[in-house]
Amino acid sequence: MPRYVLRDFSDHRLAGARGPHHPALVLYFPFFAGWIGFLRGVCSKKRAGIDKGRVDKGGWPIYALANVVDFSFQSLSHAATSDKSPSRPLLAPASSTETAFGAPRDFLGNRFVYVVISSRARGLSVGINVNPDKYCNFQCVYCEVRRDEVASGQALDPAVLELELKHVFDFIREGRLREHPRYRGVPQELLHLRHVALSGDGEPTLAPDFARIVQAVVHVRALSGVPFTKLVLITNATGLGRAGVRAGLRAFTHSDEIWAKLDGGTQTYLSRVNGMAVSLGEILANILTLARQRPVIIQSLFPLLNGAEPPAEEIEQYAARLRELISGGAKIPLVQIYSATRPSSNSSCSHLSLKTLSQIAQTVRGATGLRVEVF
Ligand code: SF4
Repeated sequence: MPRYVLRDFSDHRLAGARGPHHPALVLYFPFFAGWIGFLRGVCSKKRAGIDKGRVDKGGWPIYALANVVDFSFQSLSHAATSDKSPSRPLLAPASSTETAFGAPRDFLGNRFVYVVISSRARGLSVGINVNPDKYCNFQCVYCEVRRDEVASGQALDPAVLELELKHVFDFIREGRLREHPRYRGVPQELLHLRHVALSGDGEPTLAPDFARIVQAVVHVRALSGVPFTKLVLITNATGLGRAGVRAGLRAFTHSDEIWAKLDGGTQTYLSRVNGMAVSLGEILANILTLARQRPVIIQSLFPLLNGAEPPAEEIEQYAARLRELISGGAKIPLVQIYSATRPSSNSSCSHLSLKTLSQIAQTVRGATGLRVEVF
């Protein structure tokens, strides 16, 4: 019997409930789900009592719209798990359901370059999977990359990257994303290209060709014909001191950004959340060195672990580390607070409530004076 998988949206884990499935449901469910997502965004804002303009610089409408896309994509990707889904052209290929920020990544037939609607980007992000080999020196409890699945084995080829990136820029510039069923109902505001992200299935700064990859992206961007699009490096910060990474970052303009991960304020907590090999001292030293030279945005993911929120003392220690960075001369224009947005292979890890995320943000604002946004 054909079946579909329902989702438990309260904690972003697959509920595993199953029921009958009709083709009309697949077509109309995203529409209804979009409205549910919109209401969910509005209600979440009210429930959390979020300060005006704090959830997102664009305000709660963007947050609500992001929920439309997020919820609709979730509906599609979960419908894709139905027994009938493999031959449905409406749905993205299975590989694109791996996610980076909440909505599915869509490779559009590419090997290394994908597009994704990202709440932290506030719209369309073009992503570069710098580590197709899935190599990372962290083992985050919330990591969405399925390391039990065999990696493609291919290293990123900068020549292929250039071709794919040019193709995607052309695709976006000509408005052809709209022809793709996945994006037909997406609000125009969310299809605005916001940035190109060096990210993917592992830690980008560990890629041996990092500098060459940055140069390839910068080269294509310069010739793309699309309005200037900032480049964003999304990193766990451990490779920022490497010579090849420093060389690559020299090609970054003032408008380009580095988003560095800092998921806590004590070694004990970080070892639990990011893996035993992680050194808090090394992360802080790397962030400080770079942030003295150019602004570094801090990105902090706080998961719900075994049903427990991050301890209040940990948040205080986290704020204290941020204060130390500031007093050391670090330029930190923004702190991004968010949580696990997709099921990871770790069933003990799930999404922290928006209310708790907002409280963490309030604590950090009060302790540091930094600009903090919740996603
Ligand atoms: S740093 Fe990123 S890629 Fe590496 S384990 Fe953590 S979430 Fe996964």
